Amino acid sequence: MALINTQLNLNQACRLLFPKGKAPKFRAKGKDKRSYTTNWINNNIEIIHKSDTENYIKLPKLGRVRIILHRDIPAEWRMKNATVKETASGKFFISLTFDAETKPKERKAELGRIEAFDYSMPSLVVSASGENDITADDIRWYRNLEERIAKEQRKLSRMRHGSRNYWEQKHRIGKLHEKARNRRKDFLHKLSCNASRSSDAVIVEDINLQHMSQSLNFGKSVYDNGYGMLRNMLLYKLNDQGKILVKVDKFFPSSKRCSHCHEVNHELKLSDREWTCRSCGTHHDRDKNSCKNLLDEGKDILNRWASGDSSLILASSGVLSGKKLHPQAHLS
Ligand SMILES: [Zn+2]
Repeated sequence: MALINTQLNLNQACRLLFPKGKAPKFRAKGKDKRSYTTNWINNNIEIIHKSDTENYIKLPKLGRVRIILHRDIPAEWRMKNATVKETASGKFFISLTFDAETKPKERKAELGRIEAFDYSMPSLVVSASGENDITADDIRWYRNLEERIAKEQRKLSRMRHGSRNYWEQKHRIGKLHEKARNRRKDFLHKLSCNASRSSDAVIVEDINLQHMSQSLNFGKSVYDNGYGMLRNMLLYKLNDQGKILVKVDKFFPSSKRCSHCHEVNHELKLSDREWTCRSCGTHHDRDKNSCKNLLDEGKDILNRWASGDSSLILASSGVLSGKKLHPQAHLS
């Protein structure tokens, strides 16, 4: 089954790439993903509970392996496949795919508290309420770790490729990356958990982060995916509670528009962290102002959706979005 899955992956890659005149990349020595997928047939994969703290998984060819089971699996779920993966730091993880029926969620009829998260460059996100802001201080641990990774990476570059020292150093770097990843994940889980519990709807920007992160250096891009990760976490956490995530298509100049009088300041530069509106004299923090605009836009979408605007669609996943957002209203 492991071999069949690999072959299926290759087939799919060829089917998708060949018509575009491209070909799949060959496996690179030392860069390969250490994982395989095997399918469930006739109970060949099985979770065995010995006690609350002692669990095993039965895998084809491997037999029984002791595991830490991170959640209960309902009896009616049907297993489809298992993917075994070794991380760069040498830990093993098994992802199990299940078939399960889900009931459509009952949506909350009344919307009380609404929160908005805007993407912000130095500190990841700003929130409309101010309660869920992330300051540079909150993520200092991440920056510190990043510096350490860079230092170890420099050491690696001086080592002879493929030597024993080289692989040991690579392992050390893998461990640090994993630590950074876990810390960020933990941080975002807590933030999204908090926000989804205390609000009835959350508004986020619908921007493509992949394009943005590609233009930045590697360390930054890992870090900047945080906004995308937060959005995904918010989505399923809100959906579980029957709440809504509003995605705002941001083509209007949200950071340049005064959230008080809607006058657009065309002279605002990217380096301006604060500015004063020439029309109404309100002094703005750049990110706070942008986030307030996002909140207003999201609330507008929610109101229009509640009054039956057919251009807005609430997906079964709990995402409310619409592509056509009367552009003239914002540009004027
Ligand atoms: Zn103004």
